Amino acid sequence: MIKKTFLVTAPLYYVNSSPHLGHLYSSLFADFLARYKKMQGYQVFFVMGADQNGQKILNASQDANIGVKKFVDKNTTKFKELWKLANIGYTHFVETSSFNHAHFVQLMFQKLKDDQQLDYKNYVGLYCVHCENFHPQTSNTKCPLCKREMKKFLEENYFLKFNLNAQKQIQKLILQWQKKEKTFTNQLKDFFAQRSSKDFSITRKNSPWGIMVDYDQNQFAYVWFDALLGYISVLNPQEQTLIWKNSKTEIIQIIGKEIMKFHLIYWPTMLMRLDYRLPNDFLVHGWILKNQTKMSKTTGNTISPVKIINKFDADVVRLYLCSIMNSDSDVTFNTRDFYKFYESFVVDNLSNFHFRIITMCKKYLPDIQKQKIEDSQSLTNFMDEFIEEYHQFWVTKSFTKIFKQIDTLLNNGNQMINHEEPWKMHKQKKYNELTMTMLKLLNILKIVADLLNPIAPSISKRIYASLNCRIIHSNFYKTNVKLQQLSDLEKITYLYEKEK
Ligand SMILES: [Zn+2]
Repeated sequence: MIKKTFLVTAPLYYVNSSPHLGHLYSSLFADFLARYKKMQGYQVFFVMGADQNGQKILNASQDANIGVKKFVDKNTTKFKELWKLANIGYTHFVETSSFNHAHFVQLMFQKLKDDQQLDYKNYVGLYCVHCENFHPQTSNTKCPLCKREMKKFLEENYFLKFNLNAQKQIQKLILQWQKKEKTFTNQLKDFFAQRSSKDFSITRKNSPWGIMVDYDQNQFAYVWFDALLGYISVLNPQEQTLIWKNSKTEIIQIIGKEIMKFHLIYWPTMLMRLDYRLPNDFLVHGWILKNQTKMSKTTGNTISPVKIINKFDADVVRLYLCSIMNSDSDVTFNTRDFYKFYESFVVDNLSNFHFRIITMCKKYLPDIQKQKIEDSQSLTNFMDEFIEEYHQFWVTKSFTKIFKQIDTLLNNGNQMINHEEPWKMHKQKKYNELTMTMLKLLNILKIVADLLNPIAPSISKRIYASLNCRIIHSNFYKTNVKLQQLSDLEKITYLYEKEK
């Protein structure tokens, strides 16, 4: 059977400084989806990378007094270290200052020229170097987004033709996406009304830290034109065809709301002009705030994900972000809430549930293993609907609900222990009843590990290990733990303990 194919992309981050929690937040949307789809049996491609070109990067390297190539390499390494630490399992990582990427971008310029999709004309207007963005309609010289002083530009550039037909197609697409992403896509409404010329410039003159257009060596790729193509260039030719020329592949792109214009207007236009297919969906998410403002290098209110991961671990941070993750609004990261989450969910609910079950099992094993259970499958039938709901939340990408589902299951499990009191059954030598209860609890624990798998893969693995089971096929939700496999329960340890 041919495997179904899935591509998820995280944004290619600007590597003008070290990564902060906002970068991790965005990448986790993609990582969760990639892991979930893999568990569903898909062949998964997960593209992310580093946006290394452009004036802003050049300026930052000059400020830091380092050669620009060295500067981007150094920062890209920091990002890659974070991805490793946070267990972000990308399959492809694009670096836009690489030879391969530049070559691909040049091929695309050539194709657009051959297909007569380019116009060479004057650009006049204001340009914000910080945002790498034109603001043709503002009379104010301050950037409407970041409030920095903008530069006046007057130069000849290549423009990608954006005729009426293309505009209509894009507007139709935006309407479709708008239905789901109401909060953010409203911002795009004015895009078409505001601009007198809808064509957009895809080159800059004399922008030396960029990709040269090989038929016009005064012109360099506009950083967005170049970066967006990274989603394709990083794949080998067979993969490019399998994914970007094949409507059967499912493509989902994760983006922050601030880069929506580029992804929802420019990118689909580029794809259509270059004879590639469009993605099935965009997941536009809000920002992660600290003290009500966006985390960014310039405001200085960043939180280092490396520090908190080193203090707790990757899975704890992944779980916490999943519990607050929202694609409809901004979310707030608050250290106090994070600690509270650690104590109440991680220690009291999850770790405790695991410890209680394994301890009891070990203690009662000699008495319960001899019992005959006819139909252990029926023990977890009551869970079917619950698991079905969990899968539905993945379809709608409702991450807080996915988390809630796991939390509820743990609560119910802990309550079940308190209510059924297995220790009393043991004392009263009701071994058959005890066996049924223990099997039920063991299987709830296994399902907890199943549901946790895409979010907290290491915790999931540790639970499987203590149950002596491992994932062998995609239908593992239906696989039950049997008492026979528990003959050599290892020494029990808490998954997590309260902070000392
Ligand atoms: Zn700006």
